[in-house]
Amino acid sequence: MSDIKFTVNVDEYLSLNKYEVDESNAHIELVDDPSDAEFDKLIRVCPAALYKRDEDGNKSFDYAGCLECGTCRVACGDTIIKKWENPQPTMGVEYRFG
Ligand code: SF4
Repeated sequence: MSDIKFTVNVDEYLSLNKYEVDESNAHIELVDDPSDAEFDKLIRVCPAALYKRDEDGNKSFDYAGCLECGTCRVACGDTIIKKWENPQPTMGVEYRFG
């Protein structure tokens, strides 16, 4: 068994990415009044932390910064995700590595 231990700073890696946000066409949309339980599920699973609640419990979501991983679609595609598409060509995330 290996004794190699290391830590990865995910925020550091994510900050390398470049985004071309399509302001005229959101590639992810939620239903108008998403259930609290389903929304909270997305707060926990979205690796980019795009699903949020403020201190008053108000929900917000912004598709800018999406990593296009599809996790929210798998978790809530049949409940509160109304639309999930890949961004148009040349739009969305461009991954960069070190
Ligand atoms: S596709 Fe991934 S990164 Fe984008 S909003 Fe859904 S869970 Fe977050």
